[in-house]
Amino acid sequence: MKPLQMVDTKSQYHKIKYEIDNAVIGVMESSQFIGGKAVNDFAQNLAHYHNVKHVIPCANGTDALQIALMALGLQPGDEVIMPSFTYIATVEVAALLRLKPVFADVDPKTFCINPVEIEKLISSKTKAIVPVHLYGQAAEMEEIMAIADKYKIFVIEDNAQAIGNVYTFKNGEKKKTGAIGTIGCTSFYPSKNLGAFGDGGAITTNDDELAQKIKMIASHGQSKRYLHDVVGCNSRLDAMQAAILDIKLKHLDEYNNARRKAADVYDEAFKNHPNISVPYRSESGRHVFHQYTLTLEGISRDAMSVYLSENNIPSMIYYPVPAHRQKMLEAFGGMNYNLPVTDWLTERVISLPMHTELDSEQQNYIITHVLKFIESQK
Ligand SMILES: *Cc1c(COP(=O)(O)O)cnc(C)c1O
Repeated sequence: MKPLQMVDTKSQYHKIKYEIDNAVIGVMESSQFIGGKAVNDFAQNLAHYHNVKHVIPCANGTDALQIALMALGLQPGDEVIMPSFTYIATVEVAALLRLKPVFADVDPKTFCINPVEIEKLISSKTKAIVPVHLYGQAAEMEEIMAIADKYKIFVIEDNAQAIGNVYTFKNGEKKKTGAIGTIGCTSFYPSKNLGAFGDGGAITTNDDELAQKIKMIASHGQSKRYLHDVVGCNSRLDAMQAAILDIKLKHLDEYNNARRKAADVYDEAFKNHPNISVPYRSESGRHVFHQYTLTLEGISRDAMSVYLSENNIPSMIYYPVPAHRQKMLEAFGGMNYNLPVTDWLTERVISLPMHTELDSEQQNYIITHVLKFIESQK
């Protein structure tokens, strides 16, 4: 059996090694390492993939979120509603810009921000909502967009974990996550569903004016060469990463299908088990399983994780401490939040190996051990 890993980027690379190697050599031969054709081509293809007017590539997903918030012209103290049950980057960038992260609890089924909780937190200072499509599951965007329209606030989608998820509205209209809100942000961190061979990120929008502003902010606030209109930053996707990503983009749907297939196999083995909840599949979103995450009930998660590890099965807790309990956010009133679903999930979730290269021998081995462990606890 191939050794088990949470992600297997090496096997994935070897399947398309010829194409990737040639693309990298192409960039080296062109010596156009920053900007240029590779970056423009990828941005165009990614815009086409999302069916959006503009894609602005940047250095990583965290920058994408920061630049998106900067482009909206928010003032210090403005409130941005987001989940606490997320990777810290979502929250950190708001705090860094002196905005106030306001935490809404998540839905116990989807693990994503709960629209009902969002509306309770709206104040005159609320300027934006940042839904996170956690683990590859789409947040309830139809409800979130309705709230945003009602209160005239922005929506920034954190799509770092859900690139390729297709969301279906009640009228049948379909949109990719990241193409629904005012701005979408994604990450090409190597383990993400569309992973680079290093860091990378991108910002999507249909708004021409915002696109101009985002482009300017990502490039030192520059409007024309050496003319700087606003305070920006330096955030670029380099050409080699763009060339690699452009090739992998062609495989993204096939990669997401492989993840969904692996999830089906896990689901089949664990569904109806009294101690395990399998990931919920919402009707509106098409889960792309960045993570395959179980919720355990009446089972020691720590003991299970140790047992799996002793049998060479990696597992992870995403995330062991939610944002509102991080010391970093004490100054923003973090500890004062009452987020029962977030706390409940934080104590019970466990993610199993999930990637495009999982084979049935590996999955059977994982499944057998998970079930054997639970049986041993009775
Ligand atoms: C990965 C991730 C980010 C940050 O992306 P980086 O490219 O690592 O900066 C932001 N939000 C979520 C939900 C993520 O999973």
